[in-house]
Amino acid sequence: MAANDLQQSTIEHLLDREQARFLDTHPRSKAAWEEGKKRFLYGGPSHWMRRWAGGFPVYAASARGAHIRDIDGHDYVDFALGDTGGMCGHAPEAATRAALHQLQNGTTMMLPTEDSLWVGEELTRRFGLPYWTLTTSATDANRGAIRIARMITGRDKVLVFSGCYHGGVEEAHVEIRDGRVGMRNMIHPNGVDHSAVSRVVEFNDAAALEEALSHGDVACVLTEPLMTNFGMIPVADGFHAALREITRRTGAVLVIDETHTISSGPGGYTALHGLEPDILVAGKAIAGGIPAGIFGVSREIAERLWNIVPMVNPRVRQSAHLGIGGTLAGNALTIATMRAVLEEVLTPPNFERMIENASRLAEAARGIISENKLPWHVTQVGARAELMFMSNPPRNGADVIAGRRGDLETLLHAFYMNEGILVTPFHTMFLMCPATSAADVDSHTEVFSRFVDLVRGAGV
Ligand code: PMP
Repeated sequence: MAANDLQQSTIEHLLDREQARFLDTHPRSKAAWEEGKKRFLYGGPSHWMRRWAGGFPVYAASARGAHIRDIDGHDYVDFALGDTGGMCGHAPEAATRAALHQLQNGTTMMLPTEDSLWVGEELTRRFGLPYWTLTTSATDANRGAIRIARMITGRDKVLVFSGCYHGGVEEAHVEIRDGRVGMRNMIHPNGVDHSAVSRVVEFNDAAALEEALSHGDVACVLTEPLMTNFGMIPVADGFHAALREITRRTGAVLVIDETHTISSGPGGYTALHGLEPDILVAGKAIAGGIPAGIFGVSREIAERLWNIVPMVNPRVRQSAHLGIGGTLAGNALTIATMRAVLEEVLTPPNFERMIENASRLAEAARGIISENKLPWHVTQVGARAELMFMSNPPRNGADVIAGRRGDLETLLHAFYMNEGILVTPFHTMFLMCPATSAADVDSHTEVFSRFVDLVRGAGV
């Protein structure tokens, strides 16, 4: 029997066993979780923290490099890396030093510091876009990008691809399921008529994109260069060229969200593959874990914006504000840390090592999958690899909906937690940081191999 043919009841039985084992070996985390539920709406200080497959999260005592120690004394190889926010590794020395220095010299003043000049130059050098704005998160950067796209086009709709995730951006909370447009992943519609603000089509479908943009009411297309939030959906040959051509011809702003795909290299997927976004967004790891997002705009977008909201000397008149959030955005602490990250952490040699380790993990996992003739696959984008319990990489959200095995994913994640491996709870992603070692990768290979034994043992 192939592992994907495992009965639901067998998987549930195995998951019960893993969760019981987790409970047994994590008494302090369990007690902390029970306390947390008394004061936090969803148990932890962020509702996302409730989704760990062991049944509750481990409480972190300390984290360094690619390792986390929990309050029960267990050590983990961390491939979740804060769901990408920790891609620089935990407590990276250069960023920590820069942050400490800035903490002692003023954190947030509504004033620029000279470090920002270096950061602006470097962002342009890496990503190619000439004008930048900082925000406090990637979500907020996407909101800013959407707002600017609407201002300059006078259009209201945002087009996204089914299966996308771009943060707490309501326009992007849609998907196609059973041929109908609905809310992504059971997100509550929140009183918003999404058909008024969103269009959604399948990824890699240029004809559907063409049709959706032909109405002339889409302000922007918001997309990742390839999709990383519904498993991993690779981009088809020629799709980026079509996307760029159709958006240009129909006057929709092209927003490329590199928050995850910055794993491709120092300038993200955009620099590596010569994409030409009108607006580029990133966040999460860009300031080493200090909350930060960025968006860069092309000269054309900047000029269209300045026509609406001019840069004027405040002596002449107060210019209108942009309606883009963030009292703390671009503050001295964020800038100092971002400078250290760009100068000393997310460097070309570090990316090289991270990508090498991701390839090592992906190749070893593929080896185990093919030896055992399992209908699973692994994809990789730079320092990021993704395991999916489907035979082939999906072409779009519909393929993921049809083929994804959430139950096996949950079982694997619970098993990992018991065996000293952390992956992001939302899908099976392995991210490398500069401190990830070949030995860390090999410990994953060993644990994954034992997981395969476990499900094969149960299935045959
Ligand atoms: N863009 C992408 C592609 C993301 O995956 C996410 C979060 N997973 C975001 C934006 C939002 O990031 P944040 O939650 O840090 O605002």
